[in-house]
Amino acid sequence: PGTLYVVATPIGNLDDLSARAIRLLGGVARVAAEDTRHSARLLSHLGLNKPMLSLHEHNEARRIDTLDRYLAEGEDIALISDAGTPLISDPGFVLVRELRARNRHIVPVPGPCALITALSGAGLPTDRFVFGGFLPAKPGARRQALEGWKTREETLVFYESPHRIVHTLEALNEQLAERDVVLARELTKTFETFLHGSPASLLAQLADDPNQARGEFVVIVAGAPPAVQSKQQAIDADTLLDALLAE
Ligand code: SAM
Repeated sequence: PGTLYVVATPIGNLDDLSARAIRLLGGVARVAAEDTRHSARLLSHLGLNKPMLSLHEHNEARRIDTLDRYLAEGEDIALISDAGTPLISDPGFVLVRELRARNRHIVPVPGPCALITALSGAGLPTDRFVFGGFLPAKPGARRQALEGWKTREETLVFYESPHRIVHTLEALNEQLAERDVVLARELTKTFETFLHGSPASLLAQLADDPNQARGEFVVIVAGAPPAVQSKQQAIDADTLLDALLAE
């Protein structure tokens, strides 16, 4: 049987496609892509012309048997998405879960991922973080989601679309006004920028320069100040007091 390669592709800069990804894309019999027309451009940039099939959220479940059959026939297949790592806010999870259940050989081929790229350049703590995916578009649901993240001490990472970035900053300004926020914009592209500040200051920065509100964004929010620490300090004080009284 063949192998399913889950191949990360660039999030902007085409030079970020790894040598291994290029070699594997050249070797597979077929490429499953989120949007075949979009990915055909990447393949043609590499001088490749491969049979492609689409795999997106609306047909992913139906594609499983088809792809499983190709693998059974010994074909190697690459799964790619429009940008970055498949399965990360992109299709592929259902396919990988089902093919794993069927004991197919699956090989991830790592590469660009916007959330990791953003974290690696933002300067907010990276030892622990929560990836929240896309915040809900509707204001009520978005408020509720942020309320749920509010007490997390880990750095929060969200994906956002350009037409909602101002709404999201407004919601952050209402609910998490004191936090440090980093907007990582247009990563790996010509106009890559990192903007940094409180939600209010970021809103002001975007109002000053509307170009900064364009493009693709990762939003990184500092975690809640540790609540446990004060409790810990209280316990330490008790222990100290006990020790002193014992003296
Ligand atoms: N699978 C992709 C990955 O590995 O990062 C993410 C796909 S998701 C549908 C698209 C979102 O990722 C965008 O709305 C944006 O939040 C983020 N993103 C993708 N490329 C980016 C870039 N070059 N700069 C900043 N954010 C980016």
